[in-house]
Amino acid sequence: MPNVKKLDILKPIVALCKRRGFIYPGSEIYGGFANTYSYGPYGAQLKKNIKDLWWKTFVEKRSDMLGIDGPILLHPETWRASGHLDGFSDMLVDCKMCKSRFRADHLIESYGLQAEGKNLGELTQIIHKDIKCPKCGAKDFTEVRHFNLMFHTPMSKTGASHEIAYLRPETAQAIFLDYKNILDTQRVKIPFGVAQIGKAFRNEITPGNFIFRVIEFEQMEIEYFIREADWKATFEAWLSEMLLWCNLIGLKKTHYHTEEHAQEKLSHYSKRTVDIVYDFPFGTSELYGIAYRTDYDLKRHQEYSKINLEYNDLEHQKKFLPHVIEPTFGVDRTFLALLCDAYEEEELESGEKRSVLHFSPKIAPVKVAVFPLMKKEELVPVAGKVFRTLQNNFTCEYDDGGAIGKRYRRQDELGTPFCITIDYETLENHTVTLRERDTMKQERVPIDNLSALLMARL
Ligand code: ATP
Repeated sequence: MPNVKKLDILKPIVALCKRRGFIYPGSEIYGGFANTYSYGPYGAQLKKNIKDLWWKTFVEKRSDMLGIDGPILLHPETWRASGHLDGFSDMLVDCKMCKSRFRADHLIESYGLQAEGKNLGELTQIIHKDIKCPKCGAKDFTEVRHFNLMFHTPMSKTGASHEIAYLRPETAQAIFLDYKNILDTQRVKIPFGVAQIGKAFRNEITPGNFIFRVIEFEQMEIEYFIREADWKATFEAWLSEMLLWCNLIGLKKTHYHTEEHAQEKLSHYSKRTVDIVYDFPFGTSELYGIAYRTDYDLKRHQEYSKINLEYNDLEHQKKFLPHVIEPTFGVDRTFLALLCDAYEEEELESGEKRSVLHFSPKIAPVKVAVFPLMKKEELVPVAGKVFRTLQNNFTCEYDDGGAIGKRYRRQDELGTPFCITIDYETLENHTVTLRERDTMKQERVPIDNLSALLMARL
């Protein structure tokens, strides 16, 4: 086995993502646009694989789940009802000297001081008394104030305030808005869940750590509608499902953990929240979350829309507002955790180095690469034929340029689990070499068995 070196991995991962076309900085030719990223060809495919597997696992394979694709722009009243207009804010403080901007609670906690449960005045006092700007060292801060994280945009040329629309900061609310349509048009019985994958936007005060905290990101969310009495058991069941998902996508069990939110840290709508945190290179931080939202959202939307949102339980002759368990998953944070988990720089016995992404074959962007050993006219058509056949079932890549070793290294960096080489022996006995990414072992396999063999291993 190769000697595995542990590194400070975020820097080489960011470099690899750019070099190989996973993730590019946003708007680069204009000098960049802070905290935006573009997913390149391999990144887009990896993201799609994550979302497809999630949808298959939580929607297609379950009979108690339905999927929707709601709009990003919802009626502005939605955000008043949900509490986001009043409550979806962070506490902000600026350094007057260098104009750097900080989240007040993070700044205070970085000094080992307590920020939780304090009001704006108390936080201002602590900062003015005890804290220096981490950027310039000055002790000259503004007052701490609330900063709403929702992006907004005028809907008309007049820009009147009642015509302001908000870019959704979470996908969840679209599900609550469609809940009645689902009850009316689908044959659902409680318990049932609605899932959605889509973009969300947050004007984060301190974005950073690559794609960990960005202003535009994707979420995969579930609102699971239940009877109040079942909330504890349902919460535990969904938490287990989420941990199984972490295992399914190939994250190492020792790298993710659960963290219960203290009562005073709970969001305005939640009675219990547990985060699944991941050991990122910059510290252990939230990957996913699960919250018991009670009947808060449906109650508020019923009140603000004046539409009855009760569930009619014919079996028990009862009408009631369902309660909700919400498992939520970030696509971009999944992507980053997968990269951190999979990345390794190895020193081979030959002394040569290789960087490799040990992606699970389930989510790897390219499943199989096909090479002719050399760009010779006897080998190229055979390799082309193998490639076209495999393309029907797998994401495949064809490469006939350069030394074979270099082609293997390139695929290792993309996380491709299998490479197939067509050589002169292929012309004699109709077999190819199948090389496995992690062990680098090669075996000879009949061309006719290739598809079935790969299908079994992917
Ligand atoms: P944090 O405490 O890190 O700000 P949060 O608790 O506000 O996160 P949620 O509101 O629970 O996050 O959002 C659900 C999921 O969406 C998170 O678990 C995370 O995976 C993802 N997410 C939230 N904010 C961002 C962001 N700014 N960039 C990328 N992903 C995000």
